[in-house]
Amino acid sequence: MAGIIELSERQQRIVSIVKDEGPITGERIAKQLNLSRATLRPDLSILTMSGILEARPRVGYYYAGKTNGRLFSRFIQRMKVKDYQAVPVVMTEDASVYEAICHMFLEDVGTLFIVRKGAALSGVVSRKDLLKAAMGKQDLNELPISVAMTRMPHIITCSQEETLLDAASKIIQYEVDALPVVKPDGENDHLKVIGRLTKTTITRAFVELGEGQGAV
Ligand code: ADP
Repeated sequence: MAGIIELSERQQRIVSIVKDEGPITGERIAKQLNLSRATLRPDLSILTMSGILEARPRVGYYYAGKTNGRLFSRFIQRMKVKDYQAVPVVMTEDASVYEAICHMFLEDVGTLFIVRKGAALSGVVSRKDLLKAAMGKQDLNELPISVAMTRMPHIITCSQEETLLDAASKIIQYEVDALPVVKPDGENDHLKVIGRLTKTTITRAFVELGEGQGAV
């Protein structure tokens, strides 16, 4: 996985010596490890290039504090919504609650986006919205989906260029399962729905990362 450094046993020993005794010269590190300075050179250059150690002329090496954890978070911050988004599942405002329930089952999703002409985002419907609507005594065929949905401007959205981390943080902060991926449609002054980002999407990205197939 690009960007993540897996340290060899010797490199880990160097880091721990520098942590304990830095600033320390390459000569002294070599002595402690019973190795020659030349043998250590490739290890020291990997450790400085990756930002784990820093080298100062005439002072020596010291620990720069950029641990694998920090490198890993920088890696995650490069993941973009556009590389992970799923296809949006939408319905129009004139659909009934009954149709929305069927659509949710058939499409196997937990959130539907409600749109007007031109894919303009107007609402979001979750499973619980539909359960709530179904608890009433009304005929679900006659009940328009617009009465059950959360509507604009209360919808939390994300853009394709946003980081996956920012989008995931919104899912946590606003306690929702899905975000519509939108782009502004300047001409008509609305947000056009172009994708779907869900807890599943993020779980999939997490699994891919763990398996070493990250998209960055
Ligand atoms: P559920 O509670 O059905 O499992 P959510 O947690 O996603 O699903 O939805 C909770 C409430 O938040 C629902 O009323 C839903 O309409 C609303 N909601 C869902 N997604 C969003 C979103 N992206 N922005 C604003 N509100 C949303």
